[in-house]
Amino acid sequence: NDVVIRVRNLKKYFELHAGMFKFWGEPIYVKAVDGINFDIHKGEILGLVGESGCGKTTTGRLLTRLEDPTEGNILFEGEDIAKLKGRELKNYRRNVQMIFQDPYESLNPRFTVQKTVMEPLIIHGIGESYDERVEMVIKALEDAELRPAEEYLDRFPHELSGGQRQRVAIARALVLRPKFIVADEPVSMLDVSIRAGVMNLMLDLRDRYNIPFLFITHDIAVSRYMSDKMAVMYLGKIVEMADSDEVVFNPMHPYTKALISAVPVPDPEHKHGRVEIKGEIPSPINLPPGCRFWPRCPYAQKGICDVKEPPLVEVEPGHYVACHFAEQLAAGELESGEEAK
Ligand code: SF4
Repeated sequence: NDVVIRVRNLKKYFELHAGMFKFWGEPIYVKAVDGINFDIHKGEILGLVGESGCGKTTTGRLLTRLEDPTEGNILFEGEDIAKLKGRELKNYRRNVQMIFQDPYESLNPRFTVQKTVMEPLIIHGIGESYDERVEMVIKALEDAELRPAEEYLDRFPHELSGGQRQRVAIARALVLRPKFIVADEPVSMLDVSIRAGVMNLMLDLRDRYNIPFLFITHDIAVSRYMSDKMAVMYLGKIVEMADSDEVVFNPMHPYTKALISAVPVPDPEHKHGRVEIKGEIPSPINLPPGCRFWPRCPYAQKGICDVKEPPLVEVEPGHYVACHFAEQLAAGELESGEEAK
């Protein structure tokens, strides 16, 4: 069994500030992540895709235990880490690293590259001597393709480009030889011209060390390039999950279809009707009843979609969709315009 991360019924509810929002004495919750399930296997990259506010960053923070889950299980190599504390949590954090969106904010401006990359070794007590740690830092910088590594050791973040900073952040994650990496929008703040280099670096690292990744992005084209499998999130739920090519070329959920409609068609052979979504993403405080997508869905059916929440079901082998009409939509049997509103 090569499952590294198994997530079951994972939930994270944030309680809103009681003084401002308390209503009839009941606390009000934002359901940032609301009962999600997925597995990530050894050497696999799972892309987690959705608009901002859909819960994808919270999911990454739960998996790295920067947030405590409200409910559910996160199994790492078979062991539930959802409730780890103290030393056990510290050990887990050594195995699971996060790469953040903003390489300008994620590096301490007063630390040299050497100090930045060496810090996790010191925190976790790794390396017998200073010299051994320097060697590990150099190896991590070379793995992140900062060569010759010795030339970077004494530099400060302001002396580096955005791409070089993100490579330092990647080296800092790699120096601990992690067993799993969460990358949260790691290229979205980089200049387009250097994005491919950083993405290829992460793909190389996966190939070289068999490290699985959770790759979080709002960009379905980036996700397709990076990930083997894709999970599309909407308002705290996974609405579609399958192999990445299957999601892109055979999308079944209207929301996924809309995300794909918004980017240039990567392959004109694979046509699917344009789906445009209406309005803004609803407030996660006041979720619509039934399917959370119905107020924006061009296929919503009154009396069904606005009443009953669709479960995530395996519609085709390995292809999971949360829509009452996924099969009819895939077969082209449902016209848009039959709206619930
Ligand atoms: Fe649209 Fe209804 Fe499917 Fe939700 S369940 S995505 S509202 S058709």
